[in-house]
Amino acid sequence: MHPFKYVRATSVDEAIAALAKHGERARPLAGGTDALIMARAGRWELDALVDIKHIPETNILELGSSEFRLGAAVPCYRVYEDEQISAVFPGLVDSASIIGGIQIQSRAGLGGNLCNASPSGDGICSLIVHNTTCVIAGPGGTREVAVEDFCTGPGRSVIGDGEFLVEMKMPTPQKGFGAAYQRFTPRNEMDIAVAGVASSVQLDGDTIVSARVALSAVGPTPILSSAGDQLAGKEATAENISAAAQTASGDASPITDMRGTAEQRTHLVGVLARRTLERAVERARENN
Ligand SMILES: Cc1cc2nc3c(=O)[nH]c(=O)nc-3n(C[C@H](O)[C@H](O)[C@H](O)COP(=O)(O)OP(=O)(O)OC[C@H]3O[C@@H](n4cnc5c(N)ncnc54)[C@H](O)[C@@H]3O)c2cc1C
Repeated sequence: MHPFKYVRATSVDEAIAALAKHGERARPLAGGTDALIMARAGRWELDALVDIKHIPETNILELGSSEFRLGAAVPCYRVYEDEQISAVFPGLVDSASIIGGIQIQSRAGLGGNLCNASPSGDGICSLIVHNTTCVIAGPGGTREVAVEDFCTGPGRSVIGDGEFLVEMKMPTPQKGFGAAYQRFTPRNEMDIAVAGVASSVQLDGDTIVSARVALSAVGPTPILSSAGDQLAGKEATAENISAAAQTASGDASPITDMRGTAEQRTHLVGVLARRTLERAVERARENN
């Protein structure tokens, strides 16, 4: 392995300076559960790994009445072990609690999961259906990007040289909001999704005011399906949910590989979209 520096940044500016100095030969390090594997496998020409988890801003975990701020280095366990946050964000907990096992969840976070930009990342679709905004810092200042625009290809994102993700912000769910994520894996845990779907709904009585459906492992990036828009203004009935699930299936563009065929994945998206929409509606009703 090519020797590289470990840089422990303690401020946003320090991290930007270290990342900018080495350009594409530097990578941010959060929990390291993907990064260290890539580094060991020699997948990157690395001069430096810049540890961003000792920066106060990347550790923020703040639930306000209108906004939830989730630092880019907050490990999964801090999300689901916080009683207040897990009560308000069961859909995020669906994701945070299935990324690897306990050891992985003690290090890995939803920020690292997003930045890794794997099409099968279990956290990304949940972030999408919670309308997340990504706060990115770099030599040119700070910019915000909607999470559905963050991933640009397998392992690729909008993050440029010298930049890193500082935090994610999402609206605090109000009454009548519900979300859920489910994936299909051949094993019960410690496996990569063959397909996954996250859904969210905002209900007013039995009417769906707005909805989001996002698909994982069925395209080069996570996909925001048109199924959510199709549900807006409709009643939360089994018939409407089934029709939306069919639309989600049609929005998938999977490949056949050793983990599943394109046909199986397309079918799975329909099943998982129906199930997660039903679960999201159930949670929305509980939250009324
Ligand atoms: C045994 C095992 C099981 C796993 N199971 C699952 C699973 O079930 N589901 C799943 O989705 N994943 C799984 N993973 C993959 C991995 O654990 C997750 O993707 C995890 O969320 C990554 O988070 P991290 O904090 O460890 O990121 P890191 O490994 O630190 O970083 C991941 C990537 O993002 C970049 N990066 C990190 N932080 C930032 C930042 N703030 N700004 C810009 N770039 C950044 C890094 O340079 C690297 O390229 C598993 C991994 C292992 C080893």
